[in-house]
Formats: sequence, structure tokens, C-alpha cells
Amino acid sequence: MASRKLDVYERKRHFDVTPEPPPDGARPRRRGAPTFMVHKHHARRLHYDLRLEMDGVLASWAVPKGPSYDPAVRRLAVETEDHPLSYGAFEGRIPDGEYGAGDSLIWDRGTWETVPPGQAAAMKAKGHLELELRGEKLRGRWHLVRTGSAGGPGKTSWILFKAKDENADPGYDVTTARPESVESGRRVTRGPVAARTLRGAHPAPMELLIRVWPPPPRPIPRGKLRALAAVSGGRVSLQSAEGMDLGHSHPKVAAGLGRLVAGEAVLDADLTPGDLLLARDLLWLEGEDLRARPMRERRELLESLLAPPPPRVDVGPVIRGAPASRGPARA
Ligand code: MN
Repeated sequence: MASRKLDVYERKRHFDVTPEPPPDGARPRRRGAPTFMVHKHHARRLHYDLRLEMDGVLASWAVPKGPSYDPAVRRLAVETEDHPLSYGAFEGRIPDGEYGAGDSLIWDRGTWETVPPGQAAAMKAKGHLELELRGEKLRGRWHLVRTGSAGGPGKTSWILFKAKDENADPGYDVTTARPESVESGRRVTRGPVAARTLRGAHPAPMELLIRVWPPPPRPIPRGKLRALAAVSGGRVSLQSAEGMDLGHSHPKVAAGLGRLVAGEAVLDADLTPGDLLLARDLLWLEGEDLRARPMRERRELLESLLAPPPPRVDVGPVIRGAPASRGPARA
């Protein structure tokens, strides 16, 4: 009976494509306080998914603006389908074209209880959950109150707001102050790639390479060849750091690059003797010269772009000991 709670979750997803966990059935109650987590989900619109462990699944609400510590601020929370408990460990990219496509970070997690404890199912049925959250970012008492229907079938609207307790703080903007994942520390997220981004007008890939040339200096591992790869409007250019064309001598790598889901991207990579392109850095993405951004952000975007990597391409080791980026050339 309980496993039917995850039918909607299962129907919406292709588990041979998405890295999200398949439904593992509703689990019997474990000992200890129930868990909660909040995913920061960069789908078509960035939002925060509040998930509360309840009856062996994660009851879920999408909160477009995220939680606020100001008790006067009421945030819309749209009830969504129950998720399996294993979803609490999911962080990564939901592939383009799949339901909820885009990056999702574990923004907060911890344990929770109703006030008073043990009333979750009854309070949810009544439409007013009073929560005590013990997370890394969200603490203290909160209210979730059902306000009616919105959006469409099965999309019930609630409001989420902070109770007036010692944790309330109208001056504290938690989503701005703490943008990072509590799992990985990652801050940057990438939304789904819009069809118009893929189909739009893009320069020749060689033109993108010229814009970021010369590539920032960095060490090259022994036995590998440094390669710069540009993808633009479905076309690919693969060059050595000395400006030699590698596309014809490495057609399988070029074909793999052609399968990247991006309008425009320039990868800084190492080419192995085994014909595998190990991407180390991302210099350009969708019209933006990323060299102005910190290395760490470029790396987060690179890992998002290559989740999952196409054939003959993979994520290489983080660049260490590289001189600081000089940023984009100024006219
Ligand atoms: Mn979501």
C-alpha cells in the first residue's frame, strides 16, 4: 500500500537516463528523529524543495523563493509528489530533456519533528504542520499551512513561514548568505539548456577559441597533450595549445564533443594516448567568458556540463598550482 505513494515519482522519471534514485519502496520507520532536507533545484526556475520524512517517504514542497527567517514573510510552497528516502542523498544534474532538468544541490539537511512530536500525518491531513527543524541552515520552529489549490491537478499550495521564536531574524537572508551545498560546498548551479539556446545563431567554433586565446597557463601532465575544444551550434573544433588541428586525427573525440548539450562551450583539456579527452577547465559557456570567474566556479560549471560526459570525454583532475587567471583581455 505504502509503495503506491511513489507511483507518481516513478511515472515522471526515466531511471535509465536520470541519476536520481529509483523508488525503493516506502521504508518502515527507523529509530531516531525523522530526517529533512532542502534541495536547491535549478530547473526552469530556481526553487527550493523542502522534503520531510513522513510515513517512510519524503513528503515534498517546492518553495520558489526559498525559506525566510522573517516571521512576517510568507513563502508559497507548492506540494509535489512524494520522493523516496534515498532521494535525500541525491545531488547532481537531472539530464536535459528529463523531468525537472537542471542542477540540484543538497542545500540543507538535518532532522525534524512536529510540535508536539509524532503528529506528522495528522497535521498534514489537517493542513497545518508545525515543524521543529534541526538543520545546518534552517533551525527552530516553522509553519506549513495549506491555503488551497494552485497550478493544476495534485498541486496544492501551502505557505511556509518562520514561527516567532529565538531563531527568527528578519534581517537575515539565509538563501543569499548561505548559497552553498551542505554536501559538496558547491555554489554555482546551471539550469536546463533551453531549446532556443541550442537552435540559436552561434559563431563558428574556431571563433570561440580565438576569443579565449591564449589559454591560461597551467601544468600539463606527463604523456598528455593539452587540447582546447570548442562546441558551438553543434559544430566542434579541437586544437592543440599550439594551434594545431586535432579534430581530423581524433574523430571519435570530436564526435563525442558534438554530443554535448550546449549552445557554446570551450573546454581546456588533456588528450590521453588512449584517445580520451580529460576536461580540466571550462573557459566559455553560452556566450559568457568564464575566465573572469574564480577557478572553482568554472570547475563547478564544467562538472555540470559533463554530467554525464559524452563518449571519449571525461572530467579530469582539478588543476592545481596554476597561476591565477588573468581574466578576459580588456580592449
Ligand atoms: Mn524541484
